[in-house]
Amino acid sequence: MTPAQLRANGVKAVLTDLDNTLIAWNNPDGTPELRHWLTMLEMAGIQVIVVSNNSRARVDRAVAPFDLPYVHRALKPLTWGIRRALRRWHLNRNEAVMVGDQILTDVWAAHRSGVRSVLVKPILKSDAWITKGNRLLEKVILWRLHHNYPELTWQEDLDERKTH
Ligand SMILES: [Mg+2]
Repeated sequence: MTPAQLRANGVKAVLTDLDNTLIAWNNPDGTPELRHWLTMLEMAGIQVIVVSNNSRARVDRAVAPFDLPYVHRALKPLTWGIRRALRRWHLNRNEAVMVGDQILTDVWAAHRSGVRSVLVKPILKSDAWITKGNRLLEKVILWRLHHNYPELTWQEDLDERKTH
Protein backbone atom coordinates (compact mmCIF):
# COMPACT_ATOMS: atom_id res chain seq x y z
CA MET A 1 0.00 0.00 0.00
CA THR A 2 1.25 3.43 -0.86
CA PRO A 3 1.04 6.24 1.69
CA ALA A 4 -1.67 7.81 -0.47
CA GLN A 5 -3.70 4.59 -0.33
CA LEU A 6 -3.24 4.44 3.42
CA ARG A 7 -4.57 7.97 3.71
CA ALA A 8 -7.47 7.11 1.44
CA ASN A 9 -8.28 4.30 3.86
CA GLY A 10 -8.38 6.72 6.75
CA VAL A 11 -5.01 5.68 8.17
CA LYS A 12 -3.29 8.42 10.15
CA ALA A 13 -0.63 6.32 11.84
CA VAL A 14 1.49 3.27 11.17
CA LEU A 15 2.33 1.33 14.31
CA THR A 16 5.35 -0.79 13.64
CA ASP A 17 7.25 -3.56 15.32
CA LEU A 18 10.99 -2.94 15.70
CA ASP A 19 13.07 -6.09 15.54
CA ASN A 20 13.15 -7.86 12.21
CA THR A 21 10.48 -5.50 10.89
CA LEU A 22 12.14 -2.08 10.85
CA ILE A 23 15.69 -3.16 11.50
CA ALA A 24 17.85 -6.25 11.78
CA TRP A 25 20.23 -6.71 14.69
CA ASN A 26 23.20 -6.64 12.31
CA ASN A 27 22.13 -3.42 10.56
CA PRO A 28 20.99 -0.92 13.21
CA ASP A 29 21.06 2.01 10.79
CA GLY A 30 18.36 0.48 8.61
CA THR A 31 18.33 0.09 4.85
CA PRO A 32 17.95 2.89 2.27
CA GLU A 33 14.50 1.39 1.53
CA LEU A 34 13.50 1.91 5.14
CA ARG A 35 14.60 5.53 5.10
CA HIS A 36 12.75 6.06 1.82
CA TRP A 37 9.60 4.49 3.28
CA LEU A 38 9.77 6.69 6.39
CA THR A 39 10.22 9.80 4.26
CA MET A 40 7.25 8.87 2.06
CA LEU A 41 5.02 8.38 5.09
CA GLU A 42 6.18 11.62 6.64
CA MET A 43 5.42 13.49 3.42
CA ALA A 44 1.95 11.95 3.40
CA GLY A 45 1.42 13.16 6.96
CA ILE A 46 1.25 9.66 8.39
CA GLN A 47 2.73 9.25 11.84
CA VAL A 48 5.03 6.29 12.42
CA ILE A 49 5.08 4.89 15.96
CA VAL A 50 7.25 1.98 17.04
CA VAL A 51 5.42 -0.54 19.24
CA SER A 52 7.97 -2.98 20.62
CA ASN A 53 8.08 -5.61 23.32
CA ASN A 54 11.67 -4.66 24.05
CA SER A 55 12.96 -2.56 26.96
CA ARG A 56 13.05 1.22 26.98
CA ALA A 57 16.86 1.28 26.75
CA ARG A 58 16.94 -1.06 23.78
CA VAL A 59 14.12 0.65 21.86
CA ASP A 60 15.40 4.12 22.64
CA ARG A 61 18.82 3.28 21.23
CA ALA A 62 17.36 1.54 18.20
CA VAL A 63 14.98 4.29 17.10
CA ALA A 64 17.42 7.17 17.75
CA PRO A 65 18.79 7.26 14.16
CA PHE A 66 15.23 7.55 12.82
CA ASP A 67 13.85 9.96 15.42
CA LEU A 68 10.64 7.97 15.88
CA PRO A 69 8.33 7.95 18.89
CA TYR A 70 7.77 4.58 20.53
CA VAL A 71 5.96 2.46 23.07
CA HIS A 72 8.26 -0.04 24.79
CA ARG A 73 7.33 -3.22 26.72
CA ALA A 74 4.20 -3.43 24.61
CA LEU A 75 3.38 -6.96 25.84
CA LYS A 76 2.25 -8.14 22.41
CA PRO A 77 0.21 -10.34 21.84
CA LEU A 78 -1.66 -8.49 24.57
CA THR A 79 -3.24 -5.21 23.53
CA TRP A 80 -1.52 -3.03 26.13
CA GLY A 81 1.10 -1.37 23.92
CA ILE A 82 -1.19 -0.79 20.95
CA ARG A 83 -3.93 0.68 23.14
CA ARG A 84 -1.36 2.89 24.80
CA ALA A 85 -0.18 4.21 21.41
CA LEU A 86 -3.76 4.86 20.26
CA ARG A 87 -4.51 6.76 23.44
CA ARG A 88 -1.34 8.79 23.49
CA TRP A 89 -1.64 9.90 19.86
CA HIS A 90 -5.45 10.29 19.97
CA LEU A 91 -6.16 7.70 17.32
CA ASN A 92 -9.22 5.59 16.72
CA ARG A 93 -8.52 1.93 16.12
CA ASN A 94 -9.51 2.32 12.45
CA GLU A 95 -7.02 5.16 11.98
CA ALA A 96 -3.99 2.93 12.56
CA VAL A 97 -2.40 -0.13 11.02
CA MET A 98 0.06 -2.40 12.78
CA VAL A 99 3.06 -3.66 10.81
CA GLY A 100 5.02 -6.63 12.10
CA ASP A 101 6.87 -9.81 11.23
CA GLN A 102 5.19 -12.14 13.72
CA ILE A 103 1.65 -13.49 13.65
CA LEU A 104 1.78 -14.59 17.27
CA THR A 105 2.75 -11.18 18.63
CA ASP A 106 2.18 -8.32 16.16
CA VAL A 107 -0.79 -9.55 14.15
CA TRP A 108 -2.50 -11.13 17.12
CA ALA A 109 -2.15 -8.00 19.27
CA ALA A 110 -3.50 -5.88 16.41
CA HIS A 111 -6.43 -8.20 15.85
CA ARG A 112 -7.36 -8.11 19.54
CA SER A 113 -7.12 -4.32 19.52
CA GLY A 114 -9.35 -4.03 16.46
CA VAL A 115 -6.50 -2.54 14.44
CA ARG A 116 -5.77 -3.67 10.90
CA SER A 117 -2.42 -5.37 10.45
CA VAL A 118 0.22 -5.93 7.81
CA LEU A 119 2.38 -9.02 8.09
CA VAL A 120 5.85 -8.60 6.64
CA LYS A 121 8.55 -11.18 6.09
CA PRO A 122 11.20 -11.02 8.83
CA ILE A 123 14.39 -9.28 7.70
CA LEU A 124 16.60 -12.03 9.07
CA LYS A 125 16.14 -15.74 9.58
CA SER A 126 17.95 -15.89 12.93
CA ASP A 127 15.80 -15.32 16.00
CA ALA A 128 15.81 -15.66 19.77
CA TRP A 129 14.85 -19.14 21.04
CA ILE A 130 11.35 -18.09 22.05
CA THR A 131 10.72 -16.71 18.58
CA LYS A 132 11.96 -19.95 17.04
CA GLY A 133 9.16 -21.81 18.82
CA ASN A 134 6.62 -19.28 17.64
CA ARG A 135 7.89 -19.48 14.08
CA LEU A 136 7.03 -23.18 14.00
CA LEU A 137 3.47 -22.44 15.02
CA GLU A 138 3.45 -19.59 12.52
CA LYS A 139 4.33 -22.01 9.73
CA VAL A 140 1.26 -24.05 10.61
CA ILE A 141 -0.95 -20.95 10.66
CA LEU A 142 0.43 -19.75 7.34
CA TRP A 143 -0.10 -23.18 5.83
CA ARG A 144 -3.74 -23.10 6.95
CA LEU A 145 -4.10 -19.57 5.59
CA HIS A 146 -2.76 -20.60 2.20
CA HIS A 147 -5.00 -23.63 2.26
CA ASN A 148 -8.11 -21.52 2.94
CA TYR A 149 -7.09 -18.47 0.91
CA PRO A 150 -4.90 -19.68 -1.97
CA GLU A 151 -5.02 -16.21 -3.54
CA LEU A 152 -3.03 -14.73 -0.62
CA THR A 153 0.54 -14.05 -1.69
CA TRP A 154 3.55 -12.09 -0.46
CA GLN A 155 3.92 -8.72 -2.16
CA GLU A 156 7.39 -7.87 -3.41
CA ASP A 157 7.49 -4.20 -2.63
CA LEU A 158 7.12 -2.24 0.59
CA ASP A 159 4.53 -0.05 -1.07
CA GLU A 160 2.45 -3.02 -2.15
CA ARG A 161 2.30 -4.90 1.11
CA LYS A 162 -1.13 -6.24 1.74
CA THR A 163 -3.36 -5.49 4.68
CA HIS A 164 -5.21 -8.39 6.20
MG1 LIG B 1 9.65 -8.55 15.26
